[in-house]
Amino acid sequence: MTLRGGCLCGAVRFIYDGPLGEELGAVTVCFCSQCRKAQGFGAAVAPALAAGFSITSSAETVTEYESSPGKVRAFCGRCGAPLYSRRDASPAVLRLRLGALDDVPAGLRIEAQIFTEEAPEWTSFAESPRYGGLEPGRS
Ligand SMILES: [Zn+2]
Repeated sequence: MTLRGGCLCGAVRFIYDGPLGEELGAVTVCFCSQCRKAQGFGAAVAPALAAGFSITSSAETVTEYESSPGKVRAFCGRCGAPLYSRRDASPAVLRLRLGALDDVPAGLRIEAQIFTEEAPEWTSFAESPRYGGLEPGRS
C-alpha cells in the first residue's frame, strides 16, 4: 500500500511504500527535550524503510538539521512542518512523523512512550477531558 503525505503548506509531498513500525520497531511518542523543542510536544514517530520513501514535490524545500551528531531532523523549509529524522548509523531506516502522513493505516497505534523521564509534568494529559472541537468558552 502506498501512503502519501506532506508538509503543512503543501509544498513538500512524499510517497511511502513499506512497513510502518512492525518489524522495524515500535511506533512511539518521544518526549525527549529535542522532540519537544522541534515539535511543540512529543513527536509521534513510526520507523520506515528509507528505500520506500520518495519526495515527489519540492525536494529542494526540505531542510535537514543535525540536532545531534549523526542525527538529522528534516522539515519543510517554508512552513516548518516536521517530516522525518534519520541517523547516519542506520541509513536504511527513516523515522517518519506520523502527522505528516495524509492517512495512517487503520489499526496503527502508538505502542510506546519514550524518554518519559525527560517529560515535564505538563505532558501527562491522559486524564484531560476530550472535546470534538475547541474547549468550552473559546471561539
Ligand atoms: Zn511546507
